[in-house]
Amino acid sequence: MPLPSMRLYGAKQCTATTKRTKQQCKNPVAYGCRTCRMHGARKKETIKRGKDHVKFLHGRRTKEAEKEHSAFCRRLQQLEDAMHLLGMTTAKRSRGRKANGYTKLTSLADIKRLI
Ligand SMILES: [Zn+2]
Repeated sequence: MPLPSMRLYGAKQCTATTKRTKQQCKNPVAYGCRTCRMHGARKKETIKRGKDHVKFLHGRRTKEAEKEHSAFCRRLQQLEDAMHLLGMTTAKRSRGRKANGYTKLTSLADIKRLI
């Protein structure tokens, strides 16, 4: 017998057939998939990503955008290190967590490598 949520809310039924009974699975489908969680709904190829995802709005929170933002912040923090090393500023260092992959610049050779 199907679950009550399928009758009450009109959830779609899983399209897979069970090995044991050879009948169609009675579970509701996983969100955005054709099968239930027991029949491979979360396979990599069924997961919608990026612009294909149903909750995609503007693209500012995609993995690519966040990776780009992190790289920008890392570069900015290293430029701040360079400014302090070269004596261009006496301002306070910025506080807070540093970006992923950030390594502090400690010598002029590090600055040359940055540029
Ligand atoms: Zn199923």
